[in-house]
Amino acid sequence: MTPMILAVEGLTVSFDGFKAVDDLNFYVEEKELHVVIGPNGAGKTTLLDMICGKTKPTAGTIEFKGLYLEKMLEYQITRAGVGRKFQNPMVYEDLTVSENLEISYPKKRDVIGCLFFHRSETVLIEIERVARMIFLDDQLERKAALLSHGQKQWLEIGMLLMQAPELLLLDEPVAGMSARERELTGELLRKIAEGRSVVVIEHDMEFVKSVAHKVTVLHQGKKLAEGKMDVVQNDPRVIEVYLGH
Ligand code: ADP
Repeated sequence: MTPMILAVEGLTVSFDGFKAVDDLNFYVEEKELHVVIGPNGAGKTTLLDMICGKTKPTAGTIEFKGLYLEKMLEYQITRAGVGRKFQNPMVYEDLTVSENLEISYPKKRDVIGCLFFHRSETVLIEIERVARMIFLDDQLERKAALLSHGQKQWLEIGMLLMQAPELLLLDEPVAGMSARERELTGELLRKIAEGRSVVVIEHDMEFVKSVAHKVTVLHQGKKLAEGKMDVVQNDPRVIEVYLGH
Protein backbone atom coordinates (compact mmCIF):
# COMPACT_ATOMS: atom_id res chain seq x y z
CA MET A 1 0.00 0.00 0.00
CA THR A 2 1.24 3.50 -0.84
CA PRO A 3 1.96 5.56 2.28
CA MET A 4 -0.51 8.30 3.15
CA ILE A 5 0.76 11.88 3.18
CA LEU A 6 -2.46 13.56 4.29
CA ALA A 7 -5.23 12.21 6.50
CA VAL A 8 -8.19 14.50 7.11
CA GLU A 9 -10.69 13.11 9.61
CA GLY A 10 -14.02 14.38 10.88
CA LEU A 11 -13.29 17.78 9.36
CA THR A 12 -16.04 20.30 9.98
CA VAL A 13 -16.32 24.05 9.71
CA SER A 14 -19.37 26.15 10.49
CA PHE A 15 -19.97 29.71 9.38
CA ASP A 16 -22.74 31.15 11.56
CA GLY A 17 -24.14 27.68 12.10
CA PHE A 18 -23.92 26.71 8.40
CA LYS A 19 -21.66 23.69 7.88
CA ALA A 20 -19.60 24.41 4.74
CA VAL A 21 -17.63 21.18 5.35
CA ASP A 22 -19.34 18.53 7.42
CA ASP A 23 -17.57 15.60 9.10
CA LEU A 24 -15.34 14.92 6.12
CA ASN A 25 -12.75 12.16 5.85
CA PHE A 26 -10.27 12.73 3.04
CA TYR A 27 -7.00 10.92 2.38
CA VAL A 28 -4.16 11.62 -0.03
CA GLU A 29 -1.40 9.14 -0.78
CA GLU A 30 2.20 9.96 -1.63
CA LYS A 31 2.57 10.92 -5.32
CA GLU A 32 -1.18 10.89 -5.78
CA LEU A 33 -2.95 13.34 -8.07
CA HIS A 34 -6.27 13.68 -6.30
CA VAL A 35 -8.99 15.84 -7.85
CA VAL A 36 -11.86 17.30 -5.83
CA ILE A 37 -15.01 18.00 -7.81
CA GLY A 38 -18.54 19.04 -6.90
CA PRO A 39 -21.09 21.74 -7.66
CA ASN A 40 -20.58 25.35 -6.60
CA GLY A 41 -20.80 25.77 -2.86
CA ALA A 42 -19.93 22.10 -2.19
CA GLY A 43 -17.07 23.08 0.15
CA LYS A 44 -14.08 22.41 -2.13
CA THR A 45 -12.29 25.72 -1.59
CA THR A 46 -13.06 25.66 2.11
CA LEU A 47 -11.45 22.21 2.34
CA LEU A 48 -8.22 23.48 0.74
CA ASP A 49 -8.39 26.63 2.91
CA MET A 50 -8.42 24.44 6.01
CA ILE A 51 -5.54 22.24 4.83
CA CYS A 52 -3.32 25.30 4.19
CA GLY A 53 -4.35 27.02 7.44
CA LYS A 54 -6.26 29.94 5.92
CA THR A 55 -9.46 28.79 7.65
CA LYS A 56 -9.51 27.03 11.00
CA PRO A 57 -11.84 24.02 11.34
CA THR A 58 -14.54 23.86 13.98
CA ALA A 59 -13.77 20.15 14.50
CA GLY A 60 -11.62 17.38 13.09
CA THR A 61 -7.95 16.71 12.40
CA ILE A 62 -5.65 17.30 9.42
CA GLU A 63 -2.59 15.07 9.72
CA PHE A 64 0.31 15.72 7.37
CA LYS A 65 3.53 13.74 7.84
CA GLY A 66 2.76 13.32 11.55
CA LEU A 67 1.97 17.03 12.06
CA TYR A 68 -1.48 18.24 13.02
CA LEU A 69 -2.05 21.16 10.67
CA GLU A 70 -5.24 22.37 12.36
CA LYS A 71 -3.07 23.43 15.31
CA MET A 72 -0.54 25.29 13.17
CA LEU A 73 -0.37 28.76 11.61
CA GLU A 74 -0.51 29.29 7.85
CA TYR A 75 3.21 30.15 7.49
CA GLN A 76 4.21 27.10 9.57
CA ILE A 77 2.10 24.89 7.30
CA THR A 78 3.81 26.37 4.23
CA ARG A 79 7.20 25.71 5.81
CA ALA A 80 6.17 22.16 6.66
CA GLY A 81 5.75 21.50 2.92
CA VAL A 82 2.24 22.44 1.83
CA GLY A 83 2.00 24.80 -1.18
CA ARG A 84 -1.27 26.47 -2.12
CA LYS A 85 -2.23 28.08 -5.39
CA PHE A 86 -5.40 30.13 -5.53
CA GLN A 87 -7.57 30.53 -8.61
CA ASN A 88 -6.15 33.82 -9.88
CA PRO A 89 -2.43 33.76 -10.62
CA MET A 90 -0.45 35.78 -8.09
CA VAL A 91 2.86 36.66 -9.69
CA TYR A 92 4.97 39.81 -9.45
CA GLU A 93 4.09 41.50 -12.73
CA ASP A 94 7.09 43.90 -12.71
CA LEU A 95 9.62 41.13 -12.20
CA THR A 96 10.92 38.73 -14.84
CA VAL A 97 10.03 35.04 -14.89
CA SER A 98 13.50 34.28 -13.53
CA GLU A 99 13.17 36.84 -10.72
CA ASN A 100 9.72 35.55 -9.76
CA LEU A 101 11.18 32.06 -9.41
CA GLU A 102 14.25 33.31 -7.57
CA ILE A 103 12.36 35.19 -4.85
CA SER A 104 10.28 32.09 -4.22
CA TYR A 105 13.34 30.06 -3.31
CA PRO A 106 13.44 29.79 0.49
CA LYS A 107 16.54 31.61 1.73
CA LYS A 108 17.32 28.93 4.27
CA ARG A 109 17.84 26.53 1.36
CA ASP A 110 20.52 28.84 0.00
CA VAL A 111 22.91 29.89 2.74
CA ILE A 112 25.72 30.83 0.33
CA GLY A 113 23.43 32.93 -1.88
CA CYS A 114 22.22 34.76 1.19
CA LEU A 115 25.70 35.58 2.47
CA PHE A 116 27.03 36.94 -0.80
CA PHE A 117 23.77 38.42 -2.02
CA HIS A 118 23.94 37.01 -5.50
CA ARG A 119 22.41 34.05 -7.21
CA SER A 120 24.25 30.95 -6.19
CA GLU A 121 24.77 28.13 -8.64
CA THR A 122 22.19 25.98 -6.82
CA VAL A 123 19.46 28.58 -7.23
CA LEU A 124 20.27 29.09 -10.91
CA ILE A 125 20.12 25.37 -11.57
CA GLU A 126 16.81 25.16 -9.76
CA ILE A 127 15.37 28.15 -11.67
CA GLU A 128 16.30 26.52 -14.96
CA ARG A 129 14.94 23.13 -13.96
CA VAL A 130 11.62 24.60 -12.81
CA ALA A 131 11.37 26.93 -15.85
CA ARG A 132 11.72 23.91 -18.15
CA MET A 133 8.99 22.08 -16.25
CA ILE A 134 6.57 25.01 -16.60
CA PHE A 135 7.36 25.57 -20.31
CA LEU A 136 8.92 29.00 -19.68
CA ASP A 137 12.61 28.23 -20.14
CA ASP A 138 12.75 30.48 -23.21
CA GLN A 139 10.96 33.31 -21.36
CA LEU A 140 13.25 33.67 -18.35
CA GLU A 141 14.06 37.36 -18.88
CA ARG A 142 10.50 38.33 -19.83
CA LYS A 143 8.47 40.47 -17.43
CA ALA A 144 5.63 38.47 -15.92
CA ALA A 145 3.19 41.19 -16.98
CA LEU A 146 3.80 40.21 -20.61
CA LEU A 147 2.91 36.55 -20.14
CA SER A 148 -0.45 35.08 -21.18
CA HIS A 149 -2.95 34.21 -18.44
CA GLY A 150 -2.04 30.53 -18.84
CA GLN A 151 1.69 31.24 -18.59
CA LYS A 152 1.09 33.23 -15.40
CA GLN A 153 -0.73 30.22 -13.97
CA TRP A 154 2.29 28.06 -14.79
CA LEU A 155 4.66 30.63 -13.32
CA GLU A 156 2.77 30.59 -10.05
CA ILE A 157 2.96 26.79 -9.99
CA GLY A 158 6.70 27.18 -10.68
CA MET A 159 7.01 29.59 -7.75
CA LEU A 160 5.45 26.95 -5.52
CA LEU A 161 7.79 24.28 -6.90
CA MET A 162 10.78 26.46 -5.96
CA GLN A 163 9.74 25.90 -2.34
CA ALA A 164 9.85 22.12 -2.89
CA PRO A 165 6.51 21.37 -1.22
CA GLU A 166 5.52 17.75 -0.66
CA LEU A 167 1.84 18.54 -1.08
CA LEU A 168 0.52 21.01 -3.64
CA LEU A 169 -3.03 22.37 -3.43
CA LEU A 170 -4.24 23.87 -6.70
CA ASP A 171 -7.50 25.74 -7.17
CA GLU A 172 -8.78 25.46 -10.78
CA PRO A 173 -5.37 25.49 -12.48
CA VAL A 174 -6.78 25.38 -16.04
CA ALA A 175 -9.46 28.07 -15.63
CA GLY A 176 -9.26 30.49 -18.57
CA MET A 177 -6.69 28.41 -20.46
CA SER A 178 -6.69 27.49 -24.15
CA ALA A 179 -7.05 23.82 -25.17
CA ARG A 180 -3.30 23.57 -25.81
CA GLU A 181 -2.46 25.19 -22.48
CA ARG A 182 -4.82 22.76 -20.72
CA GLU A 183 -3.07 19.85 -22.38
CA LEU A 184 0.35 21.14 -21.30
CA THR A 185 -0.94 21.75 -17.77
CA GLY A 186 -2.05 18.11 -17.66
CA GLU A 187 1.49 17.14 -18.65
CA LEU A 188 2.91 19.45 -15.96
CA LEU A 189 0.68 18.07 -13.19
CA ARG A 190 1.47 14.46 -14.13
CA LYS A 191 5.16 15.34 -13.98
CA ILE A 192 4.79 17.04 -10.59
CA ALA A 193 2.95 14.00 -9.25
CA GLU A 194 5.94 11.80 -10.10
CA GLY A 195 7.62 13.31 -7.04
CA ARG A 196 4.93 14.80 -4.80
CA SER A 197 1.23 14.74 -4.00
CA VAL A 198 -1.21 17.11 -5.65
CA VAL A 199 -4.78 18.01 -4.72
CA VAL A 200 -6.64 19.85 -7.46
CA ILE A 201 -10.06 21.48 -7.52
CA GLU A 202 -11.31 21.39 -11.08
CA HIS A 203 -14.53 21.83 -13.05
CA ASP A 204 -13.25 20.80 -16.47
CA MET A 205 -14.27 17.13 -16.59
CA GLU A 206 -12.19 16.27 -19.65
CA PHE A 207 -9.17 17.62 -17.84
CA VAL A 208 -10.06 15.73 -14.66
CA LYS A 209 -10.33 12.50 -16.64
CA SER A 210 -6.94 13.07 -18.19
CA VAL A 211 -5.01 13.66 -14.95
CA ALA A 212 -6.78 12.26 -11.87
CA HIS A 213 -5.53 9.14 -10.11
CA LYS A 214 -8.45 9.53 -7.76
CA VAL A 215 -11.52 11.76 -7.55
CA THR A 216 -13.50 12.89 -4.50
CA VAL A 217 -16.94 14.34 -5.12
CA LEU A 218 -18.17 16.82 -2.53
CA HIS A 219 -21.77 17.90 -2.15
CA GLN A 220 -23.10 20.17 0.59
CA GLY A 221 -19.89 19.79 2.58
CA LYS A 222 -19.99 15.99 2.56
CA LYS A 223 -18.30 13.30 0.51
CA LEU A 224 -20.73 11.99 -2.08
CA ALA A 225 -18.44 9.58 -3.89
CA GLU A 226 -14.77 8.71 -4.22
CA GLY A 227 -12.64 6.58 -6.50
CA LYS A 228 -11.43 6.36 -10.08
CA MET A 229 -13.03 8.90 -12.41
CA ASP A 230 -14.64 6.27 -14.69
CA VAL A 231 -16.42 4.73 -11.70
CA VAL A 232 -17.34 8.03 -10.03
CA GLN A 233 -18.82 9.57 -13.16
CA ASN A 234 -21.26 6.67 -13.52
CA ASP A 235 -22.38 6.84 -9.91
CA PRO A 236 -26.13 7.66 -9.96
CA ARG A 237 -25.77 10.05 -6.97
CA VAL A 238 -23.06 12.00 -8.78
CA ILE A 239 -25.10 12.14 -12.00
CA GLU A 240 -28.09 13.43 -10.07
CA VAL A 241 -26.12 16.18 -8.33
CA TYR A 242 -24.59 17.37 -11.61
CA LEU A 243 -27.76 17.12 -13.68
CA GLY A 244 -29.72 18.82 -10.91
CA HIS A 245 -27.66 21.97 -11.50
P1 ADP B 1 -16.87 25.52 -3.54
O1 ADP B 1 -15.41 25.83 -3.55
O2 ADP B 1 -17.17 24.04 -3.59
O3 ADP B 1 -17.65 26.26 -4.60
P2 ADP B 1 -16.82 26.91 -1.01
O4 ADP B 1 -15.91 26.08 -0.19
O5 ADP B 1 -16.30 28.16 -1.59
O6 ADP B 1 -17.49 26.00 -2.13
O7 ADP B 1 -18.09 27.31 -0.13
C1 ADP B 1 -18.90 26.35 0.55
C2 ADP B 1 -20.01 27.07 1.26
O8 ADP B 1 -19.49 27.78 2.37
C3 ADP B 1 -20.73 28.10 0.39
O9 ADP B 1 -22.10 28.05 0.67
C4 ADP B 1 -20.11 29.40 0.83
O10 ADP B 1 -21.02 30.47 0.66
C5 ADP B 1 -19.82 29.14 2.30
N1 ADP B 1 -18.67 29.90 2.81
C6 ADP B 1 -17.39 29.73 2.44
N2 ADP B 1 -16.58 30.58 3.11
C7 ADP B 1 -17.37 31.29 3.95
C8 ADP B 1 -17.15 32.31 4.92
N3 ADP B 1 -15.92 32.77 5.17
N4 ADP B 1 -18.22 32.82 5.58
C9 ADP B 1 -19.46 32.35 5.34
N5 ADP B 1 -19.76 31.36 4.45
C10 ADP B 1 -18.73 30.85 3.76
